[in-house]
Amino acid sequence: MSVSQFSFPTTILFGPGAAARLPEELSKRGISRPLLVTDAGLARTPVFDRVAGLAPGAVVFSAVAPNPTERNVLDGVACYRQNQCDGIVGLGGGSPLDAAKAIRLKVTHELPLADYDDLLDGGNRISANVPPYIAIATTSGTGSEVSRSAVITIGATNRKTVVFSPHLIPVLAIADPELTLDLPAALTAGTGMDAFTHNVEAYIARGYHPLCDAIALAGARLAWENLPRVMADPRGVEARSQMMMASLMGAIAFQKGLGATHSLAHPLSSDCGMHHGTANAVLLPFVLEFNRPAAGARMADLEAQFGGGEIAALVRDLNRRVGIAPRLRDYGVDEAALPALAGKAIQDGCHQLNPRPCTREDLLALYLAAL
Ligand SMILES: [Zn+2]
Repeated sequence: MSVSQFSFPTTILFGPGAAARLPEELSKRGISRPLLVTDAGLARTPVFDRVAGLAPGAVVFSAVAPNPTERNVLDGVACYRQNQCDGIVGLGGGSPLDAAKAIRLKVTHELPLADYDDLLDGGNRISANVPPYIAIATTSGTGSEVSRSAVITIGATNRKTVVFSPHLIPVLAIADPELTLDLPAALTAGTGMDAFTHNVEAYIARGYHPLCDAIALAGARLAWENLPRVMADPRGVEARSQMMMASLMGAIAFQKGLGATHSLAHPLSSDCGMHHGTANAVLLPFVLEFNRPAAGARMADLEAQFGGGEIAALVRDLNRRVGIAPRLRDYGVDEAALPALAGKAIQDGCHQLNPRPCTREDLLALYLAAL
């Protein structure tokens, strides 16, 4: 057996009401003027008012696109410097939380963002010299608050680029399910299916990581059981809490790796504007069918967690129950776009740990099947 390296994430404040601890957590870390990174939509909600009220010294930066760009990051860095901020608070789903990570990096790291691309081993160029960052989740999906990666679309290539380093993980993740109670149904479903997909893809990904495997299996079951409950009763704090935990567990588990579903989903967001989690949800059954010859035993473990049956059919049924349409064409994806998307998907790093190796042709065939 070869030597393995395991590392587990950061301090997590979890539970209804956890956000109220923000003032003491800021002062503990000597942060008096944080850059509060969020997006324009969230900045108009009571959730934002509540959190902003807990950090009266904060400078608000809300210019983060749904799929955050290098431009957003550089604007955030300029705002940080102009206002002489001394730390970062990220508030939102994956987009603001990822953008905040990249802003945190670029405040102290001078190379162009593209030079920190994980595919170019850019993580080796990232040092511990970054400002403190507290991440507050408002969705149960990406788990960006406990992950050490950020996905940013680089200007020159228009490609979703992963920046990955242990130094990017927030010093504190605040997971307060009360902040998710008013999330609209489509976002609840899409982000929830992202959390589900993280757990499923991490569990069947190649590689030796029994710690992540155990978390992934339990997280997949939590999402499977609780996402339909949340859809039926959006303001139920107990089921919302379970989904927030499933989201954290998914992001902890996917430090092991993800798979082809994510490689296929990334270009659908950057090029077609499709919601990340919704794209995963539509693609996942097709990718599971593709992977069955290489991961049958792992899929049987998941099927047992879901009460038995065939996994692709089970996931299709879950999608139906949470209101996600079965096909990419239902979300306006055009067949003519698929060859270029497949060209981008094969360059995406996530499929490298997919249980069954895939070529560009395989990825194109999966897009066509899911269309
Ligand atoms: Zn994802």
